Amino acid sequence: MYHLISVVCPMYNEMDNITAFYERTVKVLTDTGQPFELICINDGSCDRTLDRLIALNQRDNRVKVIDLSRNYGKEIAMSAGIDYSRGEAVILIDADLQHPPEMIPALVEKWREGYDVVYATRSGQNGEPWLKRWTSHIFYKVINKLTSFDVPGDTGDFRLLDRKVVDALRQLHEQHRFMKGLFSWVGFRQTGVTYNQEPRHAGKSKWNYWQLCNLAIEGITSFSYTPLRFATFFGLVVAFLSIVYGIYLIIDTLLHGNPVPGYPSLMVMILFLGGVQLFTIGIIGEYIGRTYIETKKRPLYFVRSTRGFDTAAPVEMKCGSGRSEDAQ
Ligand code: UDP
Ligand code: MG
Repeated sequence: MYHLISVVCPMYNEMDNITAFYERTVKVLTDTGQPFELICINDGSCDRTLDRLIALNQRDNRVKVIDLSRNYGKEIAMSAGIDYSRGEAVILIDADLQHPPEMIPALVEKWREGYDVVYATRSGQNGEPWLKRWTSHIFYKVINKLTSFDVPGDTGDFRLLDRKVVDALRQLHEQHRFMKGLFSWVGFRQTGVTYNQEPRHAGKSKWNYWQLCNLAIEGITSFSYTPLRFATFFGLVVAFLSIVYGIYLIIDTLLHGNPVPGYPSLMVMILFLGGVQLFTIGIIGEYIGRTYIETKKRPLYFVRSTRGFDTAAPVEMKCGSGRSEDAQ
């Protein structure tokens, strides 16, 4: 049976990886004997990524190009690719060859067995510093504690999604998208295969620790309001302790009179409570900020142009717009 497979690859300044990525991926896909499309999203690169993609599209019409209007970040770039994909199965992959394209047949095989989501889990430790691995391990522990569904650890975005899952994902229009969480949240039959992660082929990672920290906060606040509850409980505990301490002070004053009140304890209390208040306001702020952004209901992305697609914009697309260079 022939099913179209869409491979979606977000690219941000990946000029030096494109040729190697294209050659390895196309070879693997050709060997599977299935028809395929390779959708490359130029996420506002400032190098010659777009030119190289256009050249590839002119040589090979299975390569399709979406040029976003600016850099939106990987999560939104992937969403754009998913929106435009037509395949029965959609495979998400990075351009830097950290996700070996040679794994694609293994993903497809599991899909044929009847799984709707096949994710690839890293087994090797290649290419990533220990601190990044360790913090990511902790993050998955926390998020799995806080949410009612399972987000597999050591798993990036490298995965295969069945059309059913893609259609489910396309109904989620949130601006703040933590894709790894959304992939799990939608449910369906999921399974994993393991692979060895290779070091980046060329260039360097776009993520720094600050962005990873933000992504972690994103992941937690998108799927759980436990931190808000934590603020409530913490407030209650501190209030209770204050009452106990107040009673102690009254009794102490009645028994021993009123010597000069303790300046240090006062300072400690004020600073401590000030800290607690700022922290909890911060947590509340995180949620209010997200609510604010979501209420604007802005389109997720804008497309500057596309190449290789039959139509200018995906059918029934609620977010984004675009024109096709082919139509000109
Ligand atoms: N990427 C993107 N937009 C961005 C940052 C990254 O489309 O703003 C793409 C990038 O080109 C690559 C993939 O996302 O194909 C993974 O990026 P990277 O290798 O920098 O992340 P890491 O592997 O370190 O998690
Ligand atoms: Mg990478």
